[in-house]
Amino acid sequence: MLPWTTYEAMYDAAQNQPEAFWLEAAQRITWQQQPGMASRARADGWHDWFPGATLNTCYNAVDRHVEQGHGAQAALVWHSCATKERQTITYKELLGRVAGFAGGLRTLGVEKGDRVLIAMPTMIETAIAMLACARIGAVHVVVFAGYAGPELARRIDDVAPKVVIIASCSFQGQTAIPSAPALNVALAQATHEPQACIIVQRNACPAPLVCARDHDFHTLEHSPPVAPVMLRSEDPLYILHTSGTTGTSKGIVRDNGGHAVALALSMELIYGCRSGDTFFTTSDLGWVVGHSYGVYAPLINGCTSVIVEGATTSAALRTLCHEHAVTCLFTTPTQMRLLRQENRNLPAHPPAALARVFVAGEYADPTLLDWARAYFQKPVVNHWWQTETGWSITAHFFGLPEREPITLMNDIGRPAPGFHPAIVPSVPGEPCGEIVLALPLPPGCLAGVWQNRVIQPPTACIDETGRFYRTFDEGMIDTGRAVHMLGRSDDVIKVAGRRISGVQIEKIIAAHPAVHACAVVAVPDGLRGQRPVAYVVLDTATQSIPATDEILGQVHRALGRWVGLKEVRFVQHLPTTVSGKITRRHLLAL
Ligand code: AMP
Repeated sequence: MLPWTTYEAMYDAAQNQPEAFWLEAAQRITWQQQPGMASRARADGWHDWFPGATLNTCYNAVDRHVEQGHGAQAALVWHSCATKERQTITYKELLGRVAGFAGGLRTLGVEKGDRVLIAMPTMIETAIAMLACARIGAVHVVVFAGYAGPELARRIDDVAPKVVIIASCSFQGQTAIPSAPALNVALAQATHEPQACIIVQRNACPAPLVCARDHDFHTLEHSPPVAPVMLRSEDPLYILHTSGTTGTSKGIVRDNGGHAVALALSMELIYGCRSGDTFFTTSDLGWVVGHSYGVYAPLINGCTSVIVEGATTSAALRTLCHEHAVTCLFTTPTQMRLLRQENRNLPAHPPAALARVFVAGEYADPTLLDWARAYFQKPVVNHWWQTETGWSITAHFFGLPEREPITLMNDIGRPAPGFHPAIVPSVPGEPCGEIVLALPLPPGCLAGVWQNRVIQPPTACIDETGRFYRTFDEGMIDTGRAVHMLGRSDDVIKVAGRRISGVQIEKIIAAHPAVHACAVVAVPDGLRGQRPVAYVVLDTATQSIPATDEILGQVHRALGRWVGLKEVRFVQHLPTTVSGKITRRHLLAL
């Protein structure tokens, strides 16, 4: 039970008495050595959470639920949209497989602090590999399964893993792509040489095992099981590379203690989830949402987690929600747009148990959220995240008895506890500007960045005063603490000295019924410095292409002619990163 009835009471408690707030939140975790303090400044200028305390994240995610008599509950439900395979694994089965695979890693020489690179699609085995690393204190580094050899080689050289784990193939749509060729290229190109590789054999495309290098994943699972190793709260749990939408990709380091506490609290406070509920995230396990809400948060809180390989079709989404009584769905605006495309004219058919739906990762226009609310007939809200923060910076709080103001529902919400946003105005006196967060950041955020094979403070994200973390996102904060996001700082368009974010224009264009998706970018303009250009993907169900003037008129009526939008380019699709985010800068190269 949460002790607060209102958002203000909760937020103020974290702001005014952070030690007491976070030590109370830490009670959700089973520690070996209880924390005596919440946060402490580190010699390198960054900060640690719960220093002096010891725990094991895998124990908290798996063992303790079995010990408490929940061994028969489903821990993970997996569905492959590529092969249509399904698998459910109980907490007891998960414990057996994780402890065995951890033993297998040990036989290959993996010890506390060693890195293990996992280049696998979303599978039960991916979660097992992550949890097995956590069990023995090895640091997992999950990377996108579809990386080509040179990209994989770069990650291998960055983290110098003792072991690399792959699946014999991943899928692009329904097509199996063998993984061994990319692995072989990566190992030939990388300077670092891992001691061993582990391969999960998949029926669609088994891989030949290279003698003295490769080991079979499922055979290793039968190794003598190992017990969880107790770790310091601040020991690293994983490294995760950012997607690259936010500059050059960097390895974000997450700790054990702060991460476990933040995720445990967020499940109750933000998602309103209790032990036994079912949480479904459509994110690939290779991205931060997959790490946090595909694996760790639901398991730490004793929920059932539904995970999916490949882009979730609307049929799979509906079936999984119905069959597994999903209470919370967490997806992306892109996924939601696909759902709308397939269901735009169908009657609402909400899954019975579904209580609420969350989106994050990129801008979600109000038209889309309104459609989703009508479709699911449940609250659908947006919240703001970064790989660096590991959980949401701003959100809506379904665990509190107080209802979220309806006026906030189409925006990214108010700050989560411990996040203290401020605006650095781009033009003095203006309400908009870069959103910065006062230091220290709350638990669960980056414990540092991985650079030159050690953990360093994230100096590139700290402002010149040394007091704020830079998000590089633009926005504004209103009197009720609500934060409004206007997009990445580099996506802001300056028209004759006035600033407008692409997102503000996209919101207007997206309201047109024939528009499936859109993105607005700046192009140089001899007279005004910059002017916006809109790229529009039409809904496949649309009968007639709207005239450019219709879209321009919509924007001019809503925002004024000064915006200077004169050009609409209709395209088949928008360029995205491998994680599905629109890469606006690539549009200009089209
Ligand atoms: P990544 O670290 O790859 O997940 O990207 C983080 C970035 O995605 C943020 O800095 C934002 O620019 C964007 N982002 C995340 N959530 C949202 C959201 N709800 N609305 C708009 N942009 C978002």
